Amino acid sequence: MGIDVWLPRDSVDPETLAEPEDLPENESASGMNWSELRDCVSHCTRCELSQSRTNTVFGVGNPNADWLIVGEAPGAEEDRRGEPFVGRAGKLLDEMLRAIGQGRDTVFIANILKCRPPNNRDPKAQEASACRQYLERQIQLLRPKIILAVGRIAAQNLLASDEPVGRMRGRPHELDGIPLVVTYHPAYLLRSPSQKGKSWSDLCLAKRLAAEFSA
Ligand code: URA
Repeated sequence: MGIDVWLPRDSVDPETLAEPEDLPENESASGMNWSELRDCVSHCTRCELSQSRTNTVFGVGNPNADWLIVGEAPGAEEDRRGEPFVGRAGKLLDEMLRAIGQGRDTVFIANILKCRPPNNRDPKAQEASACRQYLERQIQLLRPKIILAVGRIAAQNLLASDEPVGRMRGRPHELDGIPLVVTYHPAYLLRSPSQKGKSWSDLCLAKRLAAEFSA
């Protein structure tokens, strides 16, 4: 475990923070290709997390993937390495993917936020909204056959809902015409292994919806 370095909130000069609406037109991600988008994310200053991050975490995997996995935000290790889900929760996610015949090289894994919130706090609404266009562009470019939202933050942000995960999981949803399934976050499953069976049935549902979407 690393040691978190805290900056007092008032050490960040609000004048230096770019608000989404202040961004010039040409900063919009909407027309970007994959590498332009990656580059744009790596220089992003749309919210205050840009002041405290070590690395942006664009996502990892296959840019032609059929499966898009969306988590919450980078943690300390992800921030250090610039890759999502590299800790214990990431290992469990890898096992869950293996169980359905997928791997890090066949899916794409991203988060609601590209930068780490200090002390792993929940993303703020302003941060999620500043970051949203990047994930939206990733979804447009990937056109996955299935989106798997892991955990409350991913599910609530993607579906613009405040329902608990327990009520969103276990049934099909849709985002921009793409099937979406909600399941528990692997960090939660590490704390509550008795819920793994429910996640397994969510993965089976996602696999079935992906196959139907391709047919
Ligand atoms: N690491 C990530 O990249 N995302 C999460 O949601 C949790 C850990």
